[in-house]
Amino acid sequence: EPAQPRASRQRFVASLSVCLFNFVVQHLPTGEELAVKEDVRKLLERLIRTIEPDSRLLSFGSTANGFSLRNSDMDLCCLIDSEERLAPTDLVTMLGDLLERETKFQVKPLPHARIPIVKLSLDPSLALPHGIACDIGFENRLALENTRLLFCYAMIDPTRVRILVLFLKVWCKRRKINSPYEGTLSSYGYVLLVIYFLVHVKNPPVLPNLQQMPPMRPISHDDTHIGGYNTWFFDDIELLRQRWQSANTDSIGQLLIDFFKYFSRDFSYNTGVASIRAGLLKKESKGWQNDLDPARYKDARERNRFCIEDPFETGFNVARCVTREGLYAIRGEFMRASRILSTRPERAIYAIAQLCE
Ligand code: ATP
Ligand code: MG
Repeated sequence: EPAQPRASRQRFVASLSVCLFNFVVQHLPTGEELAVKEDVRKLLERLIRTIEPDSRLLSFGSTANGFSLRNSDMDLCCLIDSEERLAPTDLVTMLGDLLERETKFQVKPLPHARIPIVKLSLDPSLALPHGIACDIGFENRLALENTRLLFCYAMIDPTRVRILVLFLKVWCKRRKINSPYEGTLSSYGYVLLVIYFLVHVKNPPVLPNLQQMPPMRPISHDDTHIGGYNTWFFDDIELLRQRWQSANTDSIGQLLIDFFKYFSRDFSYNTGVASIRAGLLKKESKGWQNDLDPARYKDARERNRFCIEDPFETGFNVARCVTREGLYAIRGEFMRASRILSTRPERAIYAIAQLCE
């Protein structure tokens, strides 16, 4: 790091924190946008109930976890509380037809996708200058739970956690490293990296590990398992805030600097797995090491270059879409960001602008 007087470095970090806060606030959704989205959800729920009377349509992803930016898409999940329900494939086709007839949305049913969904979009209007993009999936109970887990983490330390996560979401979109279809990482993946960093890398930790805290009362297996996965976590955030206080007082700016430093220098991409449930794991212990069997060589290597364990579906690598080139780009961006923050001492606001260029 360049020699820089301590006092001026401290001033930079303090001003970086303030600037990050102001920057993120500008990217939050407006009250109007949130209201329109809630109206859309209710309208769609009403329509779906004409096909499946016992259904509920719930938000998940950023609209529900506290990490939504202006104009982010809507992730909706349809739960059906009755025994005899339509198969997802049929439901997607029927719902597609219905929405086509009854609404102004552009509708694209994908009944044969790995996870059958209906994709909807709405062209820009006055209330929604960027339109709306929305995916409706079915029975995705694990996604609802991981959304609730992220929401609880956001509530423990709302300012530091939300500003960091939201800034990283803006940053990774601007730097074009937020596109699983093109070999980089989903927003969900970046959020997990931030939580992992705050729970397991920072010492003292900024966040407790909600999946490893002792439960307050006995819990039954059935209440805590979905599809064979343990989805239990400590979710009484009011109680937690009364009883637990982080000993870590780092500012937002300092945490961001350390986050970039950790993921550009210290994280072991070749052998490590980032797990918010269990800390840093070995690829080997999960059977995620680069596979040396020539027949499967290419495929397995591509799939496990970067490893982030899903909090509940622990056999699932959230970063499995990241390719060799994608990882190279992501690591390059972590290094670039780290460099900018260590050599841009004059004005924090310029550093942020340069970061997100
Ligand atoms: P954005 O605001 O960019 O849409 P988001 O928080 O909604 O961000 P997404 O990446 O759209 O994040 O993911 C939405 C939800 O979909 C997540 O909360 C998670 O439940 C599920 N999800 C997305 N990607 C994955 C993945 N690779 N593996 C497992 N679940 C995923
Ligand atoms: Mg989303």
